Amino acid sequence: MIVFQKGFNFSQDGPGNRLVYHLSGCNMSCIWCSNPEGMDKGVGDHYSTEQILDECNRCRPMFFSGGGVTFTGGEATLQHQELLCVLKGLKNMGIHTAIETNGTSKRLPELLEWVDYLIMDFKHYDSEVLKKYTGVGNETVMHNFELNCKSGRQQHIRIPIINGINSDYPQGFVQYFSRFNTDNTVFEFLPYHEYGKGKWKDEYKVKNGFITKEVLQSFTEVFNSHGLKIIKT
Ligand code: SF4
Repeated sequence: MIVFQKGFNFSQDGPGNRLVYHLSGCNMSCIWCSNPEGMDKGVGDHYSTEQILDECNRCRPMFFSGGGVTFTGGEATLQHQELLCVLKGLKNMGIHTAIETNGTSKRLPELLEWVDYLIMDFKHYDSEVLKKYTGVGNETVMHNFELNCKSGRQQHIRIPIINGINSDYPQGFVQYFSRFNTDNTVFEFLPYHEYGKGKWKDEYKVKNGFITKEVLQSFTEVFNSHGLKIIKT
């Protein structure tokens, strides 16, 4: 497993206090990405499954308030086989597991049996627009979302809101989400920020991505009016 960053956070990437591994490599190239240093799969430290499991075992006292271990990225599912082995190991050790994913892996369902808490991005309802800004369309994300709705498996959907890219029409999201049973689903809005801007070696292409309070309010109202559950972390 190749990891470009790791550390603890509380309740930001799953419940409780968590050890968060950022796995190297991403198949998307979102122009607003705040971890561009993680896009390249080759960059980072190499760990065996045993090393990760041993580290997590030693960190058990830190997993308070229902915490555990989260794998994010980059895009964690690019390291599918390594991730599967580690998730199985952690579950067998009784450690709570979470992944944060962009949702584009067709093999995501294979991992979910070993995942206690799923966080999945849903960046745009229009596949062509998504592809324009990230290089990848929406079909597999939608497929995975729909599978999770049908299975009733818990899912936490994160929507980054970026001015001029997906901020104008919250109804577009809701028209899609409302077609499914979302009793198992919570939604979180992530207003645009520029924390990663300074890390870009290439030109940073988002020019005016900040959204207003009114835009965030309009998302909240539209989601509320359709009974979609919103959370903040
Ligand atoms: S999916 Fe996430 S990690 Fe990958 S480029 Fe987009 S924002 Fe960055």
